[in-house]
Amino acid sequence: MIPEDVPYEATLAKRREAITTICVHAGEPKDPSTGALDVPIVMSSAFGFASASEAAGAFRGENDAYIYGRWENPTVRALEEKIAALEGADDACATASGMAAVTGAVMSLARAGDHVVAPRSMYAEAARLLRERLPAFGVTTTFVASTTADYAAAIAQGAKVAYLETPQNPTLGILNIAAIAAVAKAHGASVIVDGTFATPFCQSPIALGADLVVHSMTKAMSGHGDVIAGAIAGRKDLVAAARDLVVKGIGAVLAPMSAWLVLRGLRTFALRQEHACRTAFGIAKILAEDPRVAKVHHPSLASHPGHTIARGAMHAYGSLLSFELAGTDAVRRGAVFLESLRTMTHAVSLGDTRTLVVHPASTTHSTMAEETRHLAGIADGLLRISVGLESLDDLVADVRFALAASEKQT
Ligand SMILES: *Cc1c(COP(=O)(O)O)cnc(C)c1O
Repeated sequence: MIPEDVPYEATLAKRREAITTICVHAGEPKDPSTGALDVPIVMSSAFGFASASEAAGAFRGENDAYIYGRWENPTVRALEEKIAALEGADDACATASGMAAVTGAVMSLARAGDHVVAPRSMYAEAARLLRERLPAFGVTTTFVASTTADYAAAIAQGAKVAYLETPQNPTLGILNIAAIAAVAKAHGASVIVDGTFATPFCQSPIALGADLVVHSMTKAMSGHGDVIAGAIAGRKDLVAAARDLVVKGIGAVLAPMSAWLVLRGLRTFALRQEHACRTAFGIAKILAEDPRVAKVHHPSLASHPGHTIARGAMHAYGSLLSFELAGTDAVRRGAVFLESLRTMTHAVSLGDTRTLVVHPASTTHSTMAEETRHLAGIADGLLRISVGLESLDDLVADVRFALAASEKQT
């Protein structure tokens, strides 16, 4: 879906045009009671009933009357409608965080005795959920090298849930959602895709056959680095089950104020993603030609092992990339690189207005055993860049300065 014979900039502009009206308008009708154009932040724990029969109907799910803030809230509901529209999903459920969305999606689809298949390289806390927490509830996970064949083998051996993260953190590995979903369907297994790195700008997992897509909206969807939020989107009954478990039951409800911040962020989402994806593409090309860099991981590069799958399945290659410093002593030189940055910021998270850089081996993936980390393809000198809204020229100048500084140290 990313044509080779069209400049990438034109593909990005086309994708922006396809979704930007949804970003502005979906889920946000003018408030009928006040005429307010922006969705009001409804700060109320409980909602009154117009009549006893309306109350009875609300509890039976026969009308749309709001009951209690842990179940549903009008500000949060507006956000959920916007997410569903962006994902092309029947419905969506907002959650208190991305991890609440991941946990809710997996726990609503897996029962004690069930087996999950997941990639070796993935968001570290989601990996901990599968590796360390869910076994206590009878749900076990096989971590695979993340090819379609690995997934197919695990599903054939009885895995009930295929958990995909694509592109993967922090190696930017690409999974073939459509191929894995076809195998899963044939065996009655479910597919969950963590679409945080791709965002709905770059990828539409539901259209590719996923049952549920989960997001950390803390990242590029809210886009300003000022809120923690998550979402689950997909088929109506599956979203309802996940909502019942994680929002109503576990209580990981998104606060109305946070929902409003995400709604505000999403209005400019398509514009921000177009810019960040274009800049990431530019940085990836420049780093790939730099002799001080051993390897660049970005699906736009023909050298990337997931390039062909990404080109066929994604709308755009995304705003994240990672690279490995060439030469010896990469861990120490990686630290010098980070400390020499003047425009980019050394911080975790991603999808912010600022460009953020992390060194996974010493931070986000430091809880992983070294052997497991290497098996997942996370080299000691791997640096991940989440491209923000600064100019390409300023970011390239910053990277070149930091690379020069890290060279001097050898
Ligand atoms: C950040 C992130 C999460 C967790 O989201 P929170 O909002 O921090 O709970 C899950 N998956 C991926 C890929 C992420 O980047």
